[in-house]
Amino acid sequence: MIAFTANCLFTPLDRVEQPLLLVEDHVIVEASSRVERQIPPGVRVVDFGDAILAPGFVEMHIHGGAGHDVMNADPSDLAAVERLLFKHGVTGYFPTTVTAPLDQTWSALDRLANAIERAAADNSSRGERAQPLGIHLEGPFISHVRRGVHPPENIMLPTLSAFDRFWEAARGQIRVMTIAPELEGAREVIAEAARRGVCVSLGHSDADLSSARAAVAAGARHATHGFNAMRPLDHREPGIVGEMLTDSRLSADIIADGIHLDPAIVELFLKAKGVDAAVLITDAISATGMPDGRYRLGSFEVEVKNGRCLAGGKLAGSVLTMDRAVRNVMQFAHWDLQHAVRLATLNPARVTGLANRGKLEAGAEADFVVLSPTGEVRNTIVRGEVSEAVSRN
Ligand SMILES: [Zn+2]
Repeated sequence: MIAFTANCLFTPLDRVEQPLLLVEDHVIVEASSRVERQIPPGVRVVDFGDAILAPGFVEMHIHGGAGHDVMNADPSDLAAVERLLFKHGVTGYFPTTVTAPLDQTWSALDRLANAIERAAADNSSRGERAQPLGIHLEGPFISHVRRGVHPPENIMLPTLSAFDRFWEAARGQIRVMTIAPELEGAREVIAEAARRGVCVSLGHSDADLSSARAAVAAGARHATHGFNAMRPLDHREPGIVGEMLTDSRLSADIIADGIHLDPAIVELFLKAKGVDAAVLITDAISATGMPDGRYRLGSFEVEVKNGRCLAGGKLAGSVLTMDRAVRNVMQFAHWDLQHAVRLATLNPARVTGLANRGKLEAGAEADFVVLSPTGEVRNTIVRGEVSEAVSRN
């Protein structure tokens, strides 16, 4: 058993002073405070001093990093992406596809399912890597009008048989699906995906208010990169953005990089969705953690310059990291670290149906991040494993 101590801990619903986190066999067995509980004798103690312990970040929309795109990644490429995520406090993630030719999508789904299954079955040391937890299928069931940079020739109308073929290729590992609800056939696919436990997320959509509402009635419960690739809010036809901002049955995510949304819109979004229903994503691409240049996203190229990713003059994902997104929320919306952390931990875990992640309590995975009081990542712990570097501290 290992006892982790620090100055403070976010469960994240509660703030615990002088925390004591006891970990055994990758799992938290107790989360309490040294104010009322002694460190049990004989256990190894790892003290993080004046730092804050928070659940490891959960990233539900990411296309790549460290020069690698998850759609084309072999296991060693994926490991490089996972090491980059780890450095930025992410302990679990959902590799995200983009619209591509069907055979490329099917083989990507197969490879990603392999990685997810291997990680889940492997009880040995994970090393300094985030764990893939499920696949986010972004496209091809999206609107031509709001496709962003998704290649138009590969966009499809949703059908149950096409969805089934993706599901088979991914061996049931699809956990999130972005879909435009106004498309013919969308409602049936939304209902079936929801029945299979997929988090159906509205996005890349030109939907009006009534078709967005009908999608929620059919089982949709989230919205993908709010405001981006959506019909803009109009005060007489609020559309999908109006539905996203006002329906308490929907959670929603944003890319808080200061490029995709003006900071004032981040603040507006957070006021509307609140600390329970807002989620942070990065939508990060292979260029993340790399110098400016030309990088791949699915089957096409993206030019990255000064933190901006462009393809054909349109924004094509980001080079944002989750720790930066958390700090941006503190800066843009004047939220404190505890509330900002929730948008990257408990909320995405709930949205994606992860019962034992995104929180620090008995029974949860021992995945956590060690933060400075201003939200800088000092260490990341996956499965309660302490690296050599931490042991030397
Ligand atoms: Zn994306």
